[in-house]
Amino acid sequence: MGQNERTGRCVVAVDGPSGSGKSTVSRRLAVSLGARYLDTGAMYRAVTWAVLRSGVDLTDVESVAKVAGEVDLRIGTDPQGYGVIADGVHVEKEIRGPEVTAAVSAVAAVPAVREQLVARQREMITNSDRIVVEGRDIGSVVAPDADLKVYLTASESARAQRRSAEDAADVAATAADLARRDRLDSTREVNPLQQAPDAVALDTTELGIDEVVARLRALLTERGVA
Ligand code: C5P
Repeated sequence: MGQNERTGRCVVAVDGPSGSGKSTVSRRLAVSLGARYLDTGAMYRAVTWAVLRSGVDLTDVESVAKVAGEVDLRIGTDPQGYGVIADGVHVEKEIRGPEVTAAVSAVAAVPAVREQLVARQREMITNSDRIVVEGRDIGSVVAPDADLKVYLTASESARAQRRSAEDAADVAATAADLARRDRLDSTREVNPLQQAPDAVALDTTELGIDEVVARLRALLTERGVA
């Protein structure tokens, strides 16, 4: 029996590019574990929403960081329906819109923005017994001691198909946007998207959600975690 089985604590880090199946897999895994779920992308998106609303120039790094420090951000951790509230406004819909999607990678590249959000994310993880956290830098930076680190990938065309179906958008335009965000997210100086050396990589191109979740459950059982 592993230490975590005795204490009941379990932290799972799920990283990967957009459209790799991260959100669906993470939510489903959290439900099956009776765990909380933290969507760190939603935090970067909510800060981006606040930056756009403030009218601050995206290239003005200091002002962007200031908005990030001032926004009153509340994010739920129920995998079956979580809310995102920024300065008292429910922004679940807005943060998935094209304006925020176009600007989020620039905001997420600002070191002071990351510092603040990473601190919040660590606090939420520390205060949770069981939690599945998804993002780009969870296994590498936010929760390097996670019980299981997963790096999900999928072919570019599968990712574009999934995202365009979710957003009811054109596949070619979605593919171009994913490629642009991947490039920005993997080449930024601070905490770029990367696979942690001890992460388990899973290509979800040909795998169904149930299959991926079952594999992750099996890995946790093997490790004596859950
Ligand atoms: O996961 P999602 O596509 O909603 O993330 C939106 C953006 O937030 C990413 O493209 C990336 O720029 C940023 N992000 C990040 N670090 C995380 C999660 C998201 O930089 N941990």
